[in-house]
Amino acid sequence: MIRVLLWLNEADIYRRALERAGFGNRLEIESLRLDQQPSAAQLQCTELMLARQAPPGLLAKMPGLRWIQALTAGVEGWISLPDLRPEIALTCARGTHRVQMPENILGALFHLTKPYAQATRDQRERRWTKRISEPLAGKTLGILGLGEIGRELARKAAALELRVIGTRRSPERLPHVERIYPPTATDQVLDQSDFVLLLLPLTPETEKIMNAQRFRAMRNSAYLLNFGRGALIVDEDLVEAVRSKTIAGAVLDVFRTEPLPADHVFWGTDGITVLPHIGGLDVHRDEVVAALFADNMGRFLAGEPLVALVDRARGY
Ligand code: NAP
Repeated sequence: MIRVLLWLNEADIYRRALERAGFGNRLEIESLRLDQQPSAAQLQCTELMLARQAPPGLLAKMPGLRWIQALTAGVEGWISLPDLRPEIALTCARGTHRVQMPENILGALFHLTKPYAQATRDQRERRWTKRISEPLAGKTLGILGLGEIGRELARKAAALELRVIGTRRSPERLPHVERIYPPTATDQVLDQSDFVLLLLPLTPETEKIMNAQRFRAMRNSAYLLNFGRGALIVDEDLVEAVRSKTIAGAVLDVFRTEPLPADHVFWGTDGITVLPHIGGLDVHRDEVVAALFADNMGRFLAGEPLVALVDRARGY
């Protein structure tokens, strides 16, 4: 029997997924709520763990741990743990955002180009004000970090007649993406884009990628959308770029500190829309991640390669 620890409040959903997949008789599954801590026996014996995050030092006390399934696509928090030993496999939730992230990003694009927010304000005052919306068709969407989410978004954006370009590390062509640039050619994407979308993982290479120089490389009429991680941006450089009209504005879903502190300058900067990290939220999210976990469990038990395995050297 393999000892599995599910450390999250929704453990029952994951337990049922493992049982439905027929693994119940091969696993000894224990669960903890988020406000509980593993017992000495759980630390000693757990081999597989599904968790939101582990506090620093905890993994050092888990000598038998072989695999961690994270619940998010971005795993910079796990990778930064010094006690995450190289022999522990870390898998992320890459691939579980197929529906909600692209739809929420498209929502942000419509928010920037269609006058629904203004119409809602007008209605409160019973004001009949015709406003002409900007079309998305024909505009260029530049995606920095054309990974799982970016590719699905490209497919959906192409149906709206957006032209999609972007960056990734591997140069292979992708459907619905007109041109892929290497990270070193990021400025060429910025120069052509009406919307610059950050979908990068947070790594030493991508941290603060959007700084004053990069904002200057964008068009004055272009918007920045950050749905990746807050630390991809130099906050004060973004505020300066929006205030000085170096760029047209920004929609931000992720921040260096979350929740965004009440006194943060983003809240009150005209041209910056603050979203409370809602891009990946989904009422069915745990079912989707549980399906990935059950799939991976089958692979683990069969000794096959895991999916969504994190490459520690790359950082994602
Ligand atoms: P993914 O499939 O791992 O994609 C990451 C992409 O970034 C890959 O295409 C990778 O290139 C590319 N990349 C890495 N370093 C780069 C660099 N220096 N320059 C250009 N491209 C680079 O991840 P995903 O599922 O699409 O998610 C992307 C990120 O979105 C996550 O890491 C997470 O931080 C964030 N996220 C946010 C939310 C939210 O609620 N707002 C939800 C989910 C995810 P290769 O393809 O060549 O490897």
